Amino acid sequence: SSLSTAQIREKYLQFFESKGHLRLPSYSTIAPDPTTLFTVAGMQPFKEQFMGAPAVFDGVASKRVTTAQKCLRIGDIENVGRTLRHCSLLEMLGNFSFGDYFKREALTWAWEFLTSPEWMGLDPEKLHATIYQDDEEAFAIWTQEIGLPPERILRFDADENFWPADAPKEGPNGPCGPCSEIFYDRGHKYGEDSWADYAETRESARFLEIWNCVFPQYDRQEPLPDGTPVLKDLPFKNIDTGMGLERIATVVQDVYDFYSNDVFAPMVAKVVELSGQPYEGPQNVSHRVVAEHIRSVSMVIADGSVPSNTGRGYVVRKILRRASRHAYLLGLREPSLYKLVPLVVDKMGGAYPELKDNQAKIEATIRAEEERFLKTLEGGIQRLGGLLSGMQKGATLSGEDAFLLYDTYGFPVDLTKEIAEEYGITVDEASYAESLENAQNIARAGSKYGKSELFGANQEALDGLSPTQFVGYDDLQAEGEVMALVGAGERLEHLSAGS
Ligand code: ATP
Ligand code: MG
Ligand code: MG
Ligand code: MG
Repeated sequence: SSLSTAQIREKYLQFFESKGHLRLPSYSTIAPDPTTLFTVAGMQPFKEQFMGAPAVFDGVASKRVTTAQKCLRIGDIENVGRTLRHCSLLEMLGNFSFGDYFKREALTWAWEFLTSPEWMGLDPEKLHATIYQDDEEAFAIWTQEIGLPPERILRFDADENFWPADAPKEGPNGPCGPCSEIFYDRGHKYGEDSWADYAETRESARFLEIWNCVFPQYDRQEPLPDGTPVLKDLPFKNIDTGMGLERIATVVQDVYDFYSNDVFAPMVAKVVELSGQPYEGPQNVSHRVVAEHIRSVSMVIADGSVPSNTGRGYVVRKILRRASRHAYLLGLREPSLYKLVPLVVDKMGGAYPELKDNQAKIEATIRAEEERFLKTLEGGIQRLGGLLSGMQKGATLSGEDAFLLYDTYGFPVDLTKEIAEEYGITVDEASYAESLENAQNIARAGSKYGKSELFGANQEALDGLSPTQFVGYDDLQAEGEVMALVGAGERLEHLSAGS
């Protein structure tokens, strides 16, 4: 199919309008409540309606609402470039019922939208579902009413099939409930694993989660002193669904991943043009990180967030520096990322006019941050040059020195190695790893982050973060490269401010 991302978004909203839903514009990426810094799901602006508040929007009463909501998930930033399925910024297509329709309509409409030739026209044979362990109601709807064979349905516990994930145990307090998710089988090209394997692995490039249909019917309360979860019934049963637009576009357009879809492909092409580095597919992590992150920060800047050392701004800075680091890896030595902004505006500005309205500000903000970051890197290069020129050819740079460069200047060890090589000097990687691990242990001991990817980084935790804390190490480890640039520039400023 040749449906563009914009057409898929529009079709989704039209489909649910045809089912009696009120279409509302996306809310801001700035979270409407303090459980998170950024909006993480389409349902978040509607928590009060799920709790029983009147469903009236700008004077229009409607118990059925549909939106395409821009969301930012801090927990997925490091996934970009690592998995095929995560963006840091995503558009969540959602349909919501505030005490109106429930499971039957939610699941049958989802099926109709995905399979009807008039809408997405996907092959029904490729669709699979998961349900909450003992949700026989959902099982019966899937098998008896929709006709999904039982072997294409997997049952999971609250870790997977409750939203927010594991809410009974972990929170946050408020509306939550069991869910049923829809997966698309992308075929052997992506893996030889089977649907049955997914029950064990819960990770697959082949079976892609596209749609989460949540049945919020509980209001989570503070657990009892012994930790027992307390789920109170909500005044009525609700529906909250979320389908990632980027994911459904990838499936419908039958492309390998996000980076070949109609939104990202032009951005990746621009990165190729700017850097002169060809893009050959998933192995080219830097192109992908740059494209995704610039779309992401463009949107949050349009919504009024700016790079800074605390709270939301800290996250903006983190994303921008991660993009800058990858631009540097691509050989870009001048501010260049801001040149991708017009492409974001071109592809997304129709649905999100705030991008158009703020284009100049977005470009200037990104450019200024790139300049700051490049200076930080240059400081590290000078320091390293000083160290290396005092050493003999064939000597070894201590791991501690390499670590200090990283810690003070945010200077990635692979870059240190590359430059040291030019002097005929090697880096003691074992002792570097040791220094890093020591710091990680210290960081972990002092970490305020919870386990939940969505709600772990709350306002309080980020606001309370001192610029000298080692927040990036877990990311680094996960990524297998040293790139916790977060806070590096701030540490430098902190030091040079004489503290
Ligand atoms: P995953 O297991 O792949 O991380 P999730 O279970 O965390 O996804 P949900 O919280 O259920 O995702 O969100 C609803 C839908 O939003 C998902 O089914 C998916 O289509 C989409 N989605 C979630 N996270 C992302 C992301 N980082 N990038 C793109 N789409 C996403
Ligand atoms: Mg996730
Ligand atoms: Mg999931
Ligand atoms: Mg999910």
